[in-house]
Amino acid sequence: MSECIFCKIANKEINSNLVYEDESVVAFRDLNPQAPQHILIVPKKHVANITELDDKNLAAHIFTEVVPKIAAEVGVDKSGFRLVINTGEEGGQTVNHLHVHLIGGRKMTWPPG
Ligand code: 5GP
Ligand code: ZN
Repeated sequence: MSECIFCKIANKEINSNLVYEDESVVAFRDLNPQAPQHILIVPKKHVANITELDDKNLAAHIFTEVVPKIAAEVGVDKSGFRLVINTGEEGGQTVNHLHVHLIGGRKMTWPPG
């Protein structure tokens, strides 16, 4: 059985605050939210990070269908939001299962820390 925490959330071995699910993706609220809306969009299959994502259909599904749907559902589609994919050690990735942060509900600053 996988020890990966996001695999466990996707398999429902661990509870999460799910906001979206389909056959290939789950999305749930971040445990430590950085904004009023902070949702993690996660492929159900284990992909370590964006450099390992070789499934073009899954990539297109996430960015053309799942992101717009969730953004509208949580009410940030008009006001704006930020997508973040931390990758590797210097990218600040702490969970080694690909996830897209969808962050919104407040004004974002730039540059990131
Ligand atoms: P990363 O730093 O890898 O880009 O993001 C990992 C994110 O996962 C962090 O924002 C962290 O708060 C969140 N996180 C870690 N463990 C859990 C968990 O068990 N449940 C939920 N909902 N979020 C988690
Ligand atoms: Zn995993």
